[in-house]
Amino acid sequence: MKIAGGHKEMRIGLGFDVHPLVPGRKLILGGVDIPHPVGLLGHSDADVVIHALCDALLGALGSGDIGEHFPDTDPAYKDISSRRLLQSTLALMRAKKYQIRNIDLVIIANQPRLSPYKEEIKKTLARELGIFDSQLNIKASTTNGLPLFGGGGQQDGIAAYGVVLIEEFCEKES
Ligand code: MG
Repeated sequence: MKIAGGHKEMRIGLGFDVHPLVPGRKLILGGVDIPHPVGLLGHSDADVVIHALCDALLGALGSGDIGEHFPDTDPAYKDISSRRLLQSTLALMRAKKYQIRNIDLVIIANQPRLSPYKEEIKKTLARELGIFDSQLNIKASTTNGLPLFGGGGQQDGIAAYGVVLIEEFCEKES
């Protein structure tokens, strides 16, 4: 879309996701395999960070949500790496001629302690997204002992929020 005065359109998007922690599953956050006795339950690899990021990107594009694009009833997505869902979402963004300006992510986990992994998650995601590390910020938080999103204290989980800013490609007129 050409904007008067040559300005590129910018759009923001918000994403949120939460999955329960259960025994017998790997814990993968932002594409990083984190050693922990329990992992996230889900149809895919349940990478809650990438899911929130995909939803933020889809939101910014005005393209619905992750469940519409990658339904958890579709066997094609069973145990799939969420990195592949992210690559499909990025392909949609590029087809619509947008690029990432910056991303801010919050991971909310009472376990494990995530500060030792923040840098690796940032580098892994930046590489996956094809952006500079400086365009991506990762924050880790806990619920300070409060039950996570209605878990009633019986079952713990991990949640993530993502906010993205995207902008149009600058295409020079010839
Ligand atoms: Mg999810």
